[in-house]
Amino acid sequence: MKRTVRRAVVTGGAGFVGSHLCDRLREEGVSVVCLDNLLTGSVDNLAALADDPGFVLERRDVSEEFDVAGPVDLVVHLASPASPHDYARHPVETLRAGAHGTLNALELARRKDARFLLTSTSEVYGDPLVHPQTESYWGNVNPVGPRSQYDEAKRYAEALTTAYRTALGVNTVIVRLFNTYGPRMRPTDGRAVPTFITQALAGRPLTVAGDGTQTRSICYVDDTVSGILAAAAGEHHGPINLGNPVELSVLELAEHIRELCGSASPVEFVERPGDDPTLRRPDIGLARSVLGWQPVVDFDKGLRMTIDWFARLALTGGLR
Ligand code: NAD
Repeated sequence: MKRTVRRAVVTGGAGFVGSHLCDRLREEGVSVVCLDNLLTGSVDNLAALADDPGFVLERRDVSEEFDVAGPVDLVVHLASPASPHDYARHPVETLRAGAHGTLNALELARRKDARFLLTSTSEVYGDPLVHPQTESYWGNVNPVGPRSQYDEAKRYAEALTTAYRTALGVNTVIVRLFNTYGPRMRPTDGRAVPTFITQALAGRPLTVAGDGTQTRSICYVDDTVSGILAAAAGEHHGPINLGNPVELSVLELAEHIRELCGSASPVEFVERPGDDPTLRRPDIGLARSVLGWQPVVDFDKGLRMTIDWFARLALTGGLR
């Protein structure tokens, strides 16, 4: 059954993925209330919606109790620091966003009788012992390691979402996003794609962690947002992997970005962060079968659009 969504609440809507989601919801005629404390997001990401009467940005920390007046059909909970740099700088805020933020967003969905969508992460698989990662795999996560504030917050958020569904009857779905890239990533957020692009554009060395043989699978943001919307519109409660199964090593990714940027930057191998996952590739069989979703944006095309965006940012002085 296809539900009608007239009004959605998006927590974390001023961030990278959230702002693209707000744009798409507005394109589909859905009124959007975006709740964001701008910890890692920016109003610049929402510039296109600034004068849109169907869009409201409320600056608010969703880890504190909140309410939204009026009817709500869909709550999408994205609010959380999401890059390793960000959650290293904000460990307690990250745990609070995953725990209290998820609780408060679930409570809103319960009060409004709305569908609730949690954006979880491939990081719940930790350093996986199963490859590619299927939803049935429980993960290999260090509960006290350098990434635990993020990984365990999301694992708790998944457990809480499941309890609200099974014990309280809230209509929920969990999606596990794999690495997503595209315009509006922050140049300094420490993730591989913006790091390599900004280094290649500036002619600086590309800093590859370890020997670069660890793998990643990266999905263009438009595809990720399509997957989120498909899961929101569906009936499945998940968890559902959303990602691009094309897998390449971090060194291959750096070299490929360098080539697309037309750069002569050398590669510099740097220390690998603790608990950095060795392998990442989603099994998206479930998303294909229950959502009819799969990534459609060509890998090079997505990278070129992202490089163009960063190049324009550099011209306007936004890359420092
Ligand atoms: P982001 O940092 O760009 O966006 C997160 C947004 O949440 C920011 O706008 C930030 O200001 C806001 N926020 C953080 N704490 C908040 C709080 N307590 N109250 C209100 N707002 C708060 O990150 P992103 O890459 O857009 O990630 C969005 C979501 O998707 C996150 O939940 C993340 O875990 C998940 N995810 C992203 C990826 C990816 O590759 N981008 C992969 C897996 C999962």
